[in-house]
Amino acid sequence: MTDHLIRNVVDATGRSLDVHLSAGRIAAVGANLSIDSSVVADEFDGRGWIVLPALAEPHAHLDKALTAHQVPNPKGDLMGAIEAWIGAAERGVFGLDEMTERAVAALTKLVASGVTLVRTHVNVGESDSDLMHLRAIHAARRAMEHLVDVHVVALMHSPLSGPDGAGNRKALAAALEHGVDLVGGCPHLEDDGPGMIDVALSAATEAGVGVDLHVDETLDANMLTLRDLATAVIDRGFASPVAASHCVSLSMQPIGVQREVAARVAGAGVAIIPLPQTNLFLQGWDHHMAMPRGITPIDVLRDAGVVVAAGGDNVQDPFNPVGRSDPLETAALLVMAAHQRPEVAYDMVSNDVRRVLGRAVVDIEPGAPADLLLVRSRSVREAIADAPVDRRVYRAGRLVSVTASTHWMDDRP
Ligand SMILES: [Zn+2]
Repeated sequence: MTDHLIRNVVDATGRSLDVHLSAGRIAAVGANLSIDSSVVADEFDGRGWIVLPALAEPHAHLDKALTAHQVPNPKGDLMGAIEAWIGAAERGVFGLDEMTERAVAALTKLVASGVTLVRTHVNVGESDSDLMHLRAIHAARRAMEHLVDVHVVALMHSPLSGPDGAGNRKALAAALEHGVDLVGGCPHLEDDGPGMIDVALSAATEAGVGVDLHVDETLDANMLTLRDLATAVIDRGFASPVAASHCVSLSMQPIGVQREVAARVAGAGVAIIPLPQTNLFLQGWDHHMAMPRGITPIDVLRDAGVVVAAGGDNVQDPFNPVGRSDPLETAALLVMAAHQRPEVAYDMVSNDVRRVLGRAVVDIEPGAPADLLLVRSRSVREAIADAPVDRRVYRAGRLVSVTASTHWMDDRP
């Protein structure tokens, strides 16, 4: 008795159906399904609910999450956040157990929102010689492994290239030895951006892992390491997955440059991960008129054939004091601040993330992975608009999270 049966639910096209989950997959979809009740562990009446592919988070910072109360960022911008974080680390604000507990709390919020798959960046550098951040996130991943898959990126401190980068390169080697899924870092924060990309790709090649860099997180149009990354991937024939997160400064280029870079990115097979929430918060503090939104040109990239998936990035830390660990919030920002249609925005925080992270996509059809989200809504647009608390989350055919709200209103005149 491990199967699940969801009755009378609508899908994104508005058709009403029953969905039978068995052995980790969608076994059957149709009206009035006849299923042997002896195999059904749970039957749920989904009237008033929509069934959707589970959400996925391609860019979290679980080691930093939920520290806004401990680490204020009075300047508000990216450098202010980095300085605030380094200062707090030097004061000894963070510890292995408290970091693990915060990461578990952040993952719990994500699971309750409907997320079954997470990629998180984790700080790695010379100043954290015992890999405390990485050990904390590995502990949190173990504690939550029955609920959510977590992929870890070693977010390298800068510089990684040049003579001053020797200590950080040693830390990267130690992190790869300890176990990480991808190499990360920030070429736009280095004196030698292409050199940093070279170090990251070399280390990833040797370890047989992918790369996910924070790329061009600035409105400065003179900074465009995305082109360097795509060129390096092509020139090397780098075979493992590559993603570029942020890509803010691409939005400041003339349309011809955007298209030229997008074509090269597509040719390199590099996926792009816009992060609207933190870019809206961290960018533009110096602009007092027509403030740029700081979100990469999604349609230009997609038109060139690039896979574009969106993430939440920082949550309630010095890089972003708000955020509720809900990709439906990211989807709403994609609609409002990046002019994406609601259905496209939903794909960008579900199946497009699965594409970037190398997972089979979820269609509401027999044979698809049973990673599903039920939301109390009538359509994708309404789900994004209302972001209802009421959700049921299935991972590999197992019910892993249920959130239910109550409402009371005085109806006496
Ligand atoms: Zn980030």
